Amino acid sequence: MQVVKVDIDTAAPLHPEASILIIYTGGTVGMVFDDKEQHLVPFNFSQITEHVPELRQFNYLLTVLSIEPAIDSSNVSVQDWLMLARLIEENYEKYDGFVVLHGTDTMAYSASAMSYLLENLQKPVIFTGAQVPIGRIRTDARENLITALQIAATKENGRSVVPEVCIYFRNLLLRGNRSKKVESSHFDAFKSDNYPPLAETGIDIEYSYEHILPHPQHVFRAHQQMSDKVAILKLFPGITRQVVQSILQAPGLQGVVLETFGSGNAPSTPWFLELLQDALNRGVHVLNVSQCDEGRVVQGQYETSTHLLHMGVIGGADITTEAAITKLMFVLGQDLEPGQAKMLLCENLRGELSV
Ligand code: ASP
Repeated sequence: MQVVKVDIDTAAPLHPEASILIIYTGGTVGMVFDDKEQHLVPFNFSQITEHVPELRQFNYLLTVLSIEPAIDSSNVSVQDWLMLARLIEENYEKYDGFVVLHGTDTMAYSASAMSYLLENLQKPVIFTGAQVPIGRIRTDARENLITALQIAATKENGRSVVPEVCIYFRNLLLRGNRSKKVESSHFDAFKSDNYPPLAETGIDIEYSYEHILPHPQHVFRAHQQMSDKVAILKLFPGITRQVVQSILQAPGLQGVVLETFGSGNAPSTPWFLELLQDALNRGVHVLNVSQCDEGRVVQGQYETSTHLLHMGVIGGADITTEAAITKLMFVLGQDLEPGQAKMLLCENLRGELSV
């Protein structure tokens, strides 16, 4: 993998309004149609102003770091997340904000992962992408990129307005670790059902200041460890012992997101509870997340979740599966005492859950 740097010629005067680093990782956003091959291929990012000439009008200093080869986000890995965190850390002082161009398929996972890896963030890190490639006339890439850049550049009283990892898409600025991809055809691809948008765009960009995280008191740091010894166990009526066993007894397993029904309910069948208890006894952390997009896990509300509570399963409140699995990867990557890891898993670390 290679990181190629491109400076973009904009109208920036000697004292530009802002300097923004764009990190292009891949995805539909950066695709053009190859007439010879008759399929979509990643385009050369040094030609970005041919596709988005409006960029030249910005009074910003724009630099692009382009990851080559471009990653279809279905292939994104923990190593890619750590590399992204490193790139932001290395460039943190030089830029006012960061825009990450990323495929939409796993954008909510990547934005969640980055929210944990980048601790005490004082600057915006805005993920965006597109449903229609940048090389097509009806592309949504242009609007998404331009507005993401404006949000990344926005300051009030000398401080960034959005010191968070976010997803900007269509007309919504969402907290990254609250977002979900909900659409594969229409332009409004992301939602955050359990948390209001941080901004909505129309003629103006209207920020919901009361929903944006406050500026942190401590210095920024980028973490460099994540565990990949995690799994998601999605329950369904009729799930068999073999399936549950194959996940809960996977060698080296450290943590599981248990996707339960409704407000956190699971079967009370003895074999299921025994397998779960056995995993917990082996030190596996189990995080209970609801299959419902809205509402929250309340362990103990029904008999079918009371046993989970008593066994030591952690209630995930209103966290998304994307934010839960990446939180497990982050927390379990830190080499903590089991009690300390459990405490962090229960806590609201980066605005990912409402306690
Ligand atoms: N498969 C693409 C990706 O996630 C789809 C997209 O960019 O929207 O990389």
